[in-house]
Amino acid sequence: MPLDRKREQGPLKHVFGPVSSKRLGQSLGVDLLPMKSCTWNCVYCQIGRTKHYVTDRCEFYPAEEILKEIRNALQTGTHIDWITFVGSGETLLYKDIGYLIEEVKKMTAIPVAVITNGSLFHLEEVRRELLHADAVLPSLNAGSEELYERIDRPASGFTFQQHLDGLVRFRREYNGKLWVEVMLLKGINDSDEALYELAGAMKQVAPDMVHLVLPTRPASEQQVALPDEERIDRAVAILSTAAPVLHPAKGSMDLSCATDLLEAVTAIVSRHPIQDKELSDALFARFSGDQAQVEQVMKELSFSGRFGTVERGGDVYWIPS
Ligand code: SF4
Repeated sequence: MPLDRKREQGPLKHVFGPVSSKRLGQSLGVDLLPMKSCTWNCVYCQIGRTKHYVTDRCEFYPAEEILKEIRNALQTGTHIDWITFVGSGETLLYKDIGYLIEEVKKMTAIPVAVITNGSLFHLEEVRRELLHADAVLPSLNAGSEELYERIDRPASGFTFQQHLDGLVRFRREYNGKLWVEVMLLKGINDSDEALYELAGAMKQVAPDMVHLVLPTRPASEQQVALPDEERIDRAVAILSTAAPVLHPAKGSMDLSCATDLLEAVTAIVSRHPIQDKELSDALFARFSGDQAQVEQVMKELSFSGRFGTVERGGDVYWIPS
């Protein structure tokens, strides 16, 4: 399985941020996987197509190496609202994530969240390992086998019914916050019919909340587009019959605490593209509105050779070079 060379060269292989988001406040990200290791190949994926599916769980990196980075990040004293396990792929492919969660809980009272596609919830060991997380955020993008196949494009042997059953079982066993993420895609799952099907499946899962999210960053497939406002409102209304729905909003980058801007921006861009405007806004806040300094730093970042740009929907995005 190929490793991401850029991350191996940087001082931090696993920890990035904190990144500011509406859902998790100041979130310290912990990436457990080599790029890109996933059971799915979603049409909306921000980190590119899944060239080779990975379906077997594995300790991709030594747990102690990951814990050391988390410990060091906590010692900087930076304000952190959540420690979030997330992967360059499917997070729960990391075997023994339960051990990592328990060890982090011994280090700090900061709550732990796990972002996952939920495709491995049919495995009893996976569900058990998550029981001590404070919040788990799995995906459910479709209410039918047909749409599940079209959107998530899973590895062979992964079915919609298996996915839904796994979520339902996990909900019965897990007492923490279950926030199910729905990616809303124009012309794919934003029709009334698709949303009613999805709401029916969501009722079976009975999450604490539904987080509606949008494909605001360049996706692996060109056909992926933002839904119209009217469809977003409709999705909120229909899915609200199953659980409270968090209306989608763009997350914003926070570079206020970054001591090494080049490394901080590299760590974020290596995980997902960032909009040029989002980056300049974050630098504007970092330098208290000093536009000349913002332009200087943007130039230095651009000349570092680490980034390239792409244009999507009239917006420019930074990607790894
Ligand atoms: S969006 Fe997440 S679950 Fe889907 S292919 Fe990308 S990494 Fe995997």
